[in-house]
Amino acid sequence: MKSLVWFRNDLRTDDNPALRAACFQSEEVHAIFIYSNNQMKLHNEANCKIEFIIENLKSLEKSLSKLNIPLTIINSDGFYDNPKKIHKLINERSIANIYWNNQFGEDEGLRDKEVKELLKKNNINYASYDDQVVFPAGTFKTGEGNPYSVFTPFKKRWVDNFNIDLLDIEFEYIPKAKTNISSNINDFDFCFKTHHSVDISIWPAGEKKAFTKLNNYLDKKIFDYARDRNDPIVDATSRLSPYLASGIISSKRCILEALKKNNFELDSGNKGITKWIDELVWREFYRNIMFSFPKVSKGEPFQEYTTKIKWRFNEEEFEAWKNGKTGFPLIDAAMKQLINEGWMHNRLRMVVAMFFTKNMLHDWRLGEAFFMQNLIDGDFSSNNGGWQWSSSTGTDAAPYFRIFNPLTQSKNFDSDGLFIKKYLNELSDVDIKEIHDPLDKTRFNCNYPSKILDLKESRLRAIDAFNEAKN
Ligand SMILES: Cc1cc2nc3c(=O)[nH]c(=O)nc-3n(C[C@H](O)[C@H](O)[C@H](O)COP(=O)(O)OP(=O)(O)OC[C@H]3O[C@@H](n4cnc5c(N)ncnc54)[C@H](O)[C@@H]3O)c2cc1C
Repeated sequence: MKSLVWFRNDLRTDDNPALRAACFQSEEVHAIFIYSNNQMKLHNEANCKIEFIIENLKSLEKSLSKLNIPLTIINSDGFYDNPKKIHKLINERSIANIYWNNQFGEDEGLRDKEVKELLKKNNINYASYDDQVVFPAGTFKTGEGNPYSVFTPFKKRWVDNFNIDLLDIEFEYIPKAKTNISSNINDFDFCFKTHHSVDISIWPAGEKKAFTKLNNYLDKKIFDYARDRNDPIVDATSRLSPYLASGIISSKRCILEALKKNNFELDSGNKGITKWIDELVWREFYRNIMFSFPKVSKGEPFQEYTTKIKWRFNEEEFEAWKNGKTGFPLIDAAMKQLINEGWMHNRLRMVVAMFFTKNMLHDWRLGEAFFMQNLIDGDFSSNNGGWQWSSSTGTDAAPYFRIFNPLTQSKNFDSDGLFIKKYLNELSDVDIKEIHDPLDKTRFNCNYPSKILDLKESRLRAIDAFNEAKN
């Protein structure tokens, strides 16, 4: 019996329930990945992320070939085109079963619905799995039977229901029967052109590299995570997000390995470890939000009243923000980190997103799209959740009148200005007394721009806009 595994956001062999089921149930297994430049453009996937995916596909192909599983890359015009492509391949190869892991998002859900109908009509067996979450999205409901929209009670239910059997992910693959199909990755034309300035060497491809990154992190830095995680110059976080976002490593694997370092204690023991697991539960929470409130994946805010906010748009300010030229050193350094690394520290994501949506009063959807277009870890649920949190339009969001002051954030989280100096060369010699907000003369001498807005005025303008929408 021949089976097909349809790889999507799960470019790994470890803890891959779809691959595991196919290997367990069939003698011969084939794999496909549907590649669509149109689709990726539509979803604002960053150019650096596409390159990362291509490199990870090459690595996956090598792992699969050791199991005699050929990987076929298929070109497609977009999601609407996927059912046809799948049907064609299944017919050509006489496939009896198809397996995949679920994705989150409206387009993905509609595509899968169509594929399932087509497979049913053609008597092809299929099975889908939840590889991105410990508990399938929608499992937990409040006392009133509603989905959770606040993290703390969600986390409590998550912890109360957790048991280690949920992380039963070890599986020994045995090579499958050889097939006469060969992988096509070396001949496939991805039509990919690099147009990013990210140093991609800091994100080496492949599951082995992701494992090494995880193990190195768990050996040392995780123990101080609770203390250091908000300090952007300290390399205190795991930087595993690109690997999690494209499924090079699973969150279950991350949680399991972290628990091993904490005597399997989920809510006690080392504070760094429990806090780190907390963040992985945040990731799962945002996936639940996307699943239970589909409107958020259609560009709508979670908080209904915020649809009435009169966002501004100022092209010059938008360009200054995108290019790290706002005149606020911490904001500009953070944006340079994004452009140079395809990644930004979590504290800074909150600071720049709040500046964008509150002080600049620009629509959060523009910032969300720009992040996706530049992040190597672009993840629809987490990015949407983060932007809606920062703009106070989302679930469990920051109250709209709580607006981070970027200068105070700079003093609190980059007190010596080391992060600023690392990413803004022009300020590398500026005295610590001035680094968070250089004097006009210093700005002029360093060729560093003036501030694009007044913090006090823009703060009041944002509060007024929210008040007006609310009343
Ligand atoms: C405006 C904004 C946009 C964001 N966009 C994305 C995005 O596109 N992709 C993305 O993966 N994360 C996003 N985040 C969440 C968070 O900033 C990143 O996950 C984190 O910075 C990744 O670094 P790390 O791997 O070192 O995280 P660690 O601190 O080591 O955390 C481990 C893992 O937990 C998850 N995680 C951590 N913090 C969060 C969080 N606040 N929400 C959800 N999951 C979290 C990530 O998968 C992360 O890799 C965004 C946050 C904000 C405020």
